[in-house]
Amino acid sequence: MPKETIVVVDDEPAARTAVARLLQERGYTVHALTGGQEAIDFANTTPFDVLLTDFRMPGGLDGLTTVRAVRRIIPQVVAIIMTGHSSIDLAIESLKLGVHGFVVKPFTAFELIRNIEQTIAQQTLSRENIKMRALVDVFSTTEALLSANTDAARLPRLTLELAMDRVSARQAGLLLLSGDQENQLELAVIAQRAAAEEDSDTNNLLPPYFPPVELFIRSNSVQLEHLRQLGQQVLDSNSTKLFIDGKEVALGSSSMVSTHSQVTQVAVPLMAQGRKVGALVMEKTGAEENFTEVDLQIAAILASQGAIAIDNSRLMHRLAQVEALHQADRLRSEFVAMVSHELRTPLTSIKGYATTLLRPDVQWNNQTGTEYLSIISEECDKLMQLIDNILEVSRIEAGALRIYPEPIQIYEVLDRAATETRRRSPEVNLEVKYPPVNEIPYVQGDSQRIIQVLRNLIQNAIKYTPQDPHILLELSLMPVNQVNDQEMVQIKVQDNGIGLTQENKDRIFERFYRVDTGSARRTEGTGLGLAICRGIVEAHGGRIWVESAGRGKGSAFYFTLPVADISNQIELD
Ligand code: ADP
Repeated sequence: MPKETIVVVDDEPAARTAVARLLQERGYTVHALTGGQEAIDFANTTPFDVLLTDFRMPGGLDGLTTVRAVRRIIPQVVAIIMTGHSSIDLAIESLKLGVHGFVVKPFTAFELIRNIEQTIAQQTLSRENIKMRALVDVFSTTEALLSANTDAARLPRLTLELAMDRVSARQAGLLLLSGDQENQLELAVIAQRAAAEEDSDTNNLLPPYFPPVELFIRSNSVQLEHLRQLGQQVLDSNSTKLFIDGKEVALGSSSMVSTHSQVTQVAVPLMAQGRKVGALVMEKTGAEENFTEVDLQIAAILASQGAIAIDNSRLMHRLAQVEALHQADRLRSEFVAMVSHELRTPLTSIKGYATTLLRPDVQWNNQTGTEYLSIISEECDKLMQLIDNILEVSRIEAGALRIYPEPIQIYEVLDRAATETRRRSPEVNLEVKYPPVNEIPYVQGDSQRIIQVLRNLIQNAIKYTPQDPHILLELSLMPVNQVNDQEMVQIKVQDNGIGLTQENKDRIFERFYRVDTGSARRTEGTGLGLAICRGIVEAHGGRIWVESAGRGKGSAFYFTLPVADISNQIELD
């Protein structure tokens, strides 16, 4: 490793030359300068590692002022002061103000060299220490990026937020490669800090004040285009790049030092498992410190963790899409198989009776002919009913079920369903219960569709209650949902029929599912009614479920519907 570059500042020519020669003999690169201002001017053009300055320099800037000014330009410079006995106290004080070491005049060659070597070693160690702590800290915060429950859409923002926070850049951008076009950077999150307040005390050695970060997404801005170009360059070359005033600078401690009032940018490629994901670009201006080696390492960690997290979430998303396509495919073929099976049963029967009637060798009497023809007609009706149901179910599954909700008096719908049932099935003991009508809110619903649900549930209740059917139709009001503030009503259709086991309860809302018991098989049905009921209820924003104490213990079907928000209309009434 080449030895450090040292700038020696002393207004006494003899001392200056002697010290410079000593250091040169030890292999250091030395620049001997006459005063503080010269050192500042020099720092503005040439980076160096160590500033060794006299403490008192009458007629010019003193040593401490020189150190402060040079450190503003070269933050990582190791500063050592040479001082006489009379100023030892002041020199010790200056250690608190950012000076790293001092040598007391007169000193021997051995003392000077030992002091310089020790101070450099000490500074290197303490920087390593700070660096390690910073990196450990960054590693632990980036865990959030990789944790599974981080919202995928937030990942780019989160990465950028962390980068801004840890590197204290003025501006940063995160660009991602578009999924479709090869090597085309798209979506960008840009983060910027509000303008910093001017620091009135220019000698203040405290780190610059960093105002809060503002994050926003922008497209087509000049800034974005500029960042995009830098990002594209690092992605193409697949390596981190440092730019000072638009010019690429080799990465390395001394060449990384920029001079006053410049724009410094670091662009890091985002790579995950050899795949290019995007780029992270950060920018500092002259008012801030330059990018340090630690900044670069932090950027590298964030870039790699962020890239993995973003890449993972994209993969998961793609996997989910593929899985959904497979699932849709499976469901479609299952559906076709089931439909053909269900259509076959009535068709076989129709075909059988028709073939029998058409037998040329048999002369059917009128009565048999009429009987067979009415069976054929009934089977045709069933077939039509089945086809209607199948169409309804496929509309539901395609998300194409149309409902026309409006504020309705739900108890009127219950009454209609009850009247219809009493007319059709007078043997059924049907009871209807609801609260006083002035307490029942309007429901946001499509009454035709709700009647369809009720009809289905009541017919099932009758169908699956072989003896003395007692059916209860009950409306109740539910407490307001705390989460979405939505008020709902609940409707129950309860019977004293064959009941359901736990396993059946979980499955009966699936299309074509029919409980396989002797009695259920004896009843007519397609296994589509409840699937349609569920589709209609869910299209209203409600929920449908069943409760049953078990086989032979009766069932109670429940569904909910949203209360209409008609406060304005009620006032008008
Ligand atoms: P279907 O009645 O045409 O078979 P559904 O979708 O209406 O089709 O019902 C699915 C299955 O749920 C029925 O086959 C039956 O096994 C069961 N089921 C529905 N309603 C009841 C009920 N009230 N009591 C017991 N079982 C029922």
